[in-house]
Amino acid sequence: MTHYPHLLAPLDLGFTTLKNRVLMGSMHTGLEERGDWDRVAEYYAARARGGVGLMVTGGIAPNPEGGVAVGAAGLYTPEDIANHKRVTDNVHAEGGKIAMQILHAGRYAYNPDCVSASPVKSPISPFPPKELDEEGIEKQIDDFATTAKRAKEAGYDGVEIMGSEGYFLNQFLVTHTNKRTDRWGGDYENRMRLPIEVVKRVRAAVGPEFIIIYRLSMIDLVPNGSITEEVIRLAKKIEAAGATILNTGIGWHEARVPTIATSVPRAGFAWVTKKLMGEVGIPVITSNRINNPETAEAVLAEGCADMVSMARPFLADPDFVAKAEAGRAGDIAPCIACNQACLDHTFSGKISSCLVNPRACYETEIVVTPTDTPKTVAVVGAGPAGLSTAITAASRGHKVTLFDSAERVGGQLHMAATIPGKEEFAGLIDWFERQVANEGVTVKLRQRVTADDLTGFDEIIVATGVNPRDPQIEGQGADNVLSYIDVLRGKAPVGKRVAIIGAGGIGFDVAEFLAHEGTSPTLDLNLWKEEWGVSDPATDRGGLAPEGPQPEAPARDIVLLQRKAQALGKKLGKTTGWIHRAALKMKEVDMVGGVNYERITPEGLEVTSGEARENPRLIAVDTIVLCAGQESERSLADALIAAGKTPHVIGGADVAAELDAKRAIDQGVRLAATL
Ligand code: FAD
Ligand code: NAP
Ligand code: SF4
Repeated sequence: MTHYPHLLAPLDLGFTTLKNRVLMGSMHTGLEERGDWDRVAEYYAARARGGVGLMVTGGIAPNPEGGVAVGAAGLYTPEDIANHKRVTDNVHAEGGKIAMQILHAGRYAYNPDCVSASPVKSPISPFPPKELDEEGIEKQIDDFATTAKRAKEAGYDGVEIMGSEGYFLNQFLVTHTNKRTDRWGGDYENRMRLPIEVVKRVRAAVGPEFIIIYRLSMIDLVPNGSITEEVIRLAKKIEAAGATILNTGIGWHEARVPTIATSVPRAGFAWVTKKLMGEVGIPVITSNRINNPETAEAVLAEGCADMVSMARPFLADPDFVAKAEAGRAGDIAPCIACNQACLDHTFSGKISSCLVNPRACYETEIVVTPTDTPKTVAVVGAGPAGLSTAITAASRGHKVTLFDSAERVGGQLHMAATIPGKEEFAGLIDWFERQVANEGVTVKLRQRVTADDLTGFDEIIVATGVNPRDPQIEGQGADNVLSYIDVLRGKAPVGKRVAIIGAGGIGFDVAEFLAHEGTSPTLDLNLWKEEWGVSDPATDRGGLAPEGPQPEAPARDIVLLQRKAQALGKKLGKTTGWIHRAALKMKEVDMVGGVNYERITPEGLEVTSGEARENPRLIAVDTIVLCAGQESERSLADALIAAGKTPHVIGGADVAAELDAKRAIDQGVRLAATL
């Protein structure tokens, strides 16, 4: 039986054939900038081995002014070409194909020498761009063509020209960033001139038998963005100029609409790509929030595109395609679209990796090999720390027993999965559960383990997680006070007026949970589009609804509080914090910092402000929810140590501060790799 007949069908490009309809989309990993080319080569080779049809590298600058930041990777010297050749050789040795993305950031470049159509500073970069003159534009086109030629020399099968997401070429297309009156600005015919010229000159430089993907912004999600009629005109011209494939870009980086975060519905933008189908003769790729073979297959079967781009799913699992082919889709480690280890790392100047798969980009550092000395291993706690240890240790040949007092494995991930917009966490629990069975781990549930139960094991891993912190507020023992656990596990009813004490990740999530009622917008595309003001770019410029976001009325009146006198949510994810803050604002959540919690009474919560405890007032609410952070659950670890044993303590049981699933899984996998 053929699994996924659309997704796994080959794609004939005339001069070459892709073995399936899966593109690994471009991701900046930071590896190229470190100059560790063995590591870069192994990262791509692992994905080629996994059977993906075509890969696109992270963005490579055509010139220094176009790099995303000063020092961004480029293809300038014979040595650069030789380094890239190592990557392409490794990929080809694994039977893969790879295209290099040429990324010119224009006004998005973190570089005082950045250039663009007009000197319009972007809201996400501190540097106003220099307006290019005719000669400057010619130089940029030439640099694109030269870079493509060098990419061919380096052994790439093609290039992707980045024309979306608000980068350089996109900046010429719309009047918001192109104020020119010469032949590169003014009417749309002129504004499209640069991208078309770039494709023509790249084609002339590389010859006919070389893949040119053009990534087209199909919905800009910024004011005065393109409309579909313009996008189709451009697509036709790009095809005529010599492109082989059109890829979809969704939203400019400065857009205030989430486009790839976990709260975006799966395949939430495939309907936009579909508008191009039948308008051009070359294959069209769709992208964004497609993270499993079923969704990808459905998108293709519905005629939304000829091919599907997935990027982050290949960090989570390099063997995505091979597992789909083998009918083992349930074993694909799921990308939960959290951005925590990939994009959040990129934007913090760290190497990208993956929350679910800490080996991503660390293939040469975290090496998991069969053990020569199998041991008996007890893992106590089946949260992400314990699960990742148990699975990795068992995969190496150790005999692992995993204990948890709960009914199911997953630990706190079960609470994360109840939050509207975080439904993907449920899939992660399912995957863990399946891997535990696949690897032959003995699972003992509903068993609270004590030190006495752990005799006869060679190694003991304590992954017992955390307990909620006791904030010790006067009156907190009353019936109107609940912990986040009571709320998220549905153990107690919550009133209509709520105060949430603590505004960390959990406080924000609880606010989201309590503000929503009924279907989560993440599971209902129309609801989600209304919530964020996304409309049809065929009628509304940029695909922004003229009436703006129309969120559903909040289910409760919520006040979210913290003691720190600063804006709430500062420590949330670098690329997702703004989404959580915007979502709560839309639900009219009152966010208050700089408070002291004086006491809780039947009427509500009494607070004061600042160190001088001024402005005493009552926040009249029905329910107060405690989300005041967490502390390590170390009772088992302490008892074992007292009994003279030397357990490995990991995850929340080790350090509770700033704990997240990323750290828990990373610590578990690294430990298991060394047992
Ligand atoms: P836990 O997940 O706490 O697991 C510990 C396990 O040990 C539990 O299953 C418990 O039953 C078991 N146990 C304890 N003592 C014993 C014993 N003596 N015997 C047997 N079993 C025992 N993190 C993120 O990275 N991203 C997010 O978006 C995110 N969202 C979250 C949302 C919510 C609402 C919550 C509550 C947490 C969220 N987290 C998120 C945090 C993340 O879930 C935790 O950091 C992670 O689960 C910690 O992993 P752990 O394995 O150390 O502990
Ligand atoms: P947290 O992020 O440390 O936040 C704890 C909150 O409680 C803070 O707002 C803190 O603010 C307050 N607080 C601390 N001590 C207090 C006290 N004694 N009395 C009253 N308030 C107190 O912890 P969390 O929200 O419990 O989250 C736990 C972990 O899960 C976090 O490390 C987080 O990374 C992770 N998580 C991640 C996500 C995600 O999306 N990535 C989502 C949920 C959870 P003040 O001290 O200013 O009052
Ligand atoms: Fe996906 Fe999160 Fe891994 Fe990034 S870190 S690849 S978003 S699971």
